[in-house]
Amino acid sequence: MNTEPLHILAVKMRMAQLPLEPKDFMVKHDLAKRCVKFADEALLAYKKLGAAREIIKVLQAAFKAAHEKVLAKEEEIDELQLKLDSAEGSERSLRSEVVDLQAKVTAADPEVGLDIANSNDLQSRLDRVLEDNERLALDKTMLEQALERSEAATNHYKAIARSRQHDLDSIREIIGDAHRFPLATHFDSTPAPLRLLDTEPNSRPLPRASIKPIATPLRNTLGPASVDPFETRQGVPRTAPSNTARVRGGIRSPVLSPIRPEGVQLLPHLVTPAPLQLGDTEPMAPTPSRVATVRRGSRPPKGTPRKGEIPADDIEWILHVPNQYGADFVPFTDLPMATEVPLRNLFEQAFQVKPNSKYTDKQARQHSAYVHMVRIASRSEQARGGWCVNEKVFHAGRTQRAPDGHACARCVSAFHPCARVVAHNDCYVLCFFPLPDQQRGREVDWQDMGFWIIQP
Ligand SMILES: [Zn+2]
Repeated sequence: MNTEPLHILAVKMRMAQLPLEPKDFMVKHDLAKRCVKFADEALLAYKKLGAAREIIKVLQAAFKAAHEKVLAKEEEIDELQLKLDSAEGSERSLRSEVVDLQAKVTAADPEVGLDIANSNDLQSRLDRVLEDNERLALDKTMLEQALERSEAATNHYKAIARSRQHDLDSIREIIGDAHRFPLATHFDSTPAPLRLLDTEPNSRPLPRASIKPIATPLRNTLGPASVDPFETRQGVPRTAPSNTARVRGGIRSPVLSPIRPEGVQLLPHLVTPAPLQLGDTEPMAPTPSRVATVRRGSRPPKGTPRKGEIPADDIEWILHVPNQYGADFVPFTDLPMATEVPLRNLFEQAFQVKPNSKYTDKQARQHSAYVHMVRIASRSEQARGGWCVNEKVFHAGRTQRAPDGHACARCVSAFHPCARVVAHNDCYVLCFFPLPDQQRGREVDWQDMGFWIIQP
């Protein structure tokens, strides 16, 4: 088979003008087959060429995109280069600063040493201050303890002062009482001279029973040791008078020593007896206006009245009559008889005011509570407490302060007149309070019973 290239063979055939012979058909057939094969190859190549063109297009697009990226990167590189340049510039300036600072540090070394020394000095000072602080804290604790002790002592002395004030109030009461009932009324109109010496004939002893109500609280107030510096101790007179006297609380106060002339002996009845407390049983005959209560548990001396038979001290009665500005205080006896008598009877019967030997034990206790309440010596305390008679007589131990200006609820509900000890015109009086506003009738005025109690 002829393997010459086809175009050369075709040229040869045209030049030779070969006749058509069987072998020529074979040649032509072969030629045709080769042509078909060539055409197939050419078609395949054409197809490959198309595909290659597509690929080239894609590659060109990719190349273009990559090129754009490269351009962007180049711009970035330019910017970074600029930054790098400026950073290099600042690095150079920083290096020069560091050099400057190193030079300064080298120059400042001596000063730094000085600062360290100062710091050590400050530390030692701080230590000293801390030590001082601890010491001061200790002092503070001790001072606080001392302060507490002082406060306790202050309270103690305040209590003593209150007790003294109370005694003083009692004495004032008694002096007021003595003013109203002068001692002279207890004496004869032409009395014998008072006996100062045992040898005096036709004389009488000092009236101790009459001055006792004044002397006893006075003595208690002044303190036992300061009353009589010549006081006997176990029957033996003291040879030298003391110039100090111990009073309650442990404080010594100077007391003037009276000068006793040589040879003058104190009479036995001038020697002051042991101090008596207010309310103790009095060994002397009691005056009608001042009868001491019997101390619980002790046997009453002969002739001492029972609780229910002790008369109460006289006390003025007044009425609290409200007006538009406050209140008027009207004498109880200004009431019309039709009101005064039943109100007085009601009060006296409700609280066992009058002494009565036929009282039961309970009634006698109630009477005694009333007597104690209006006793001259206890009036200032009662006025400060603000309790009404009903509270003291029926609710001893759980008393409530009565309301201002009107009767208390307990009196109202018990149908009792509400009366309290109050200070009025420098005097303590028994004041009757009206019903609360809303519990009085509209047409009722102070002269009516309905103004003072609810009438059942
Ligand atoms: Zn009352």
